[in-house]
Amino acid sequence: KLHNTILELKGNIRVFCRVRPLLTDDDVGAEAKVVSYPTTTETLGRGIDLLQHGQKHSFTFDKVFMPDASQQEVFVEISQLVQSALDGYKVCVFAYGQTGSGKTYTMMGKSGSPDQKGLIPRSLEQIFETRQALQHQGWKYELQVSMLEIYNETIRDLLPLNRSCSDMSRTENGVGKQYAIKHDANGNTHVSDLTIVDVRSSKEVSFLLDRAAQSRSVGKTQMNEQSSRSHFVFTLRISGVNESTEQQVQGVLNLIDLAGSERLSKSGSTGDRLKETQAINKSLSSLSDVIFALGKKEEHIPFRNSKLTYLLQPCLGGDSKTLMFVNVSPDPSSVGESLCSLRFAARVN
Ligand code: ADP
Ligand code: MG
Repeated sequence: KLHNTILELKGNIRVFCRVRPLLTDDDVGAEAKVVSYPTTTETLGRGIDLLQHGQKHSFTFDKVFMPDASQQEVFVEISQLVQSALDGYKVCVFAYGQTGSGKTYTMMGKSGSPDQKGLIPRSLEQIFETRQALQHQGWKYELQVSMLEIYNETIRDLLPLNRSCSDMSRTENGVGKQYAIKHDANGNTHVSDLTIVDVRSSKEVSFLLDRAAQSRSVGKTQMNEQSSRSHFVFTLRISGVNESTEQQVQGVLNLIDLAGSERLSKSGSTGDRLKETQAINKSLSSLSDVIFALGKKEEHIPFRNSKLTYLLQPCLGGDSKTLMFVNVSPDPSSVGESLCSLRFAARVN
């Protein structure tokens, strides 16, 4: 490992809260009724208060981004983490929150607007720029991308080279492609049949992101808003070698847009919807259990309880670095869900 980052001083898990602005559909002017930000010196920039039924619930995180925070301001706070993947660390950044709270906006941003680019494109730009700069010090980096979706505890490749083949495997409930997860002794993860693409520029990655988004939206019409009911996992594998010093680094950057955390009432849902809800609840609570156990330095970490935690196992333990965004809507009608999200995040923090 080349450089140490500030994370080491603080432990390897951090939680940032981001409150999105009110959208035109929301109850304009109502935000102040439910969300406020304490201004005492200890919690300035880190505290958030939520008012529900006249009762105030206070939370403190590593950082709280208010609705006016720009994508660039948010990115600045994670750029060091992105840098550490180039230094050989395994990094995970999650976006957690109910559907509509701003997870995809935070991760991907809005296409067609450079100011509103999200963390994934910004991270890639930084990585390719830094790679360029490090070339002068003898560093050669190879970068590989994969993108997958976990839906109902089943992996789906979002970059299949042969699209008709993967569509078939989807309609046949995953028959054909196994996507079996294996971790080798070096802490590298292999997912059988998963497409891995060598990338040389952030433009190439943008192209792949578009393709993955298309692949997801196909599922959306066919599978009942699948994209908000599935986890999106973007993985960048980084291997670097210094030609003069022969130093080697292997880093991984995982950027994850989680399934919507809203609690669907189990009694109301049946069949596929119920199965879907149970799968999401299981994987989100497993994620929380894993991060909580890691934070407590417990002996047994329950990685195997869900596909998501098992897939990310080598990137969650050890000296890896984890950041969770808890995305919150300021809409008064969402206050119940917001409270659930903040409690979830407070548990892992
Ligand atoms: P999620 O992925 O959690 O379901 P989205 O990211 O799709 O939520 O956000 C819901 C809506 O709010 C989208 O129209 C998005 O563009 C908008 N939005 C979310 N966060 C912000 C933000 N910080 N600034 C401006 N618009 C935002
Ligand atoms: Mg989304």
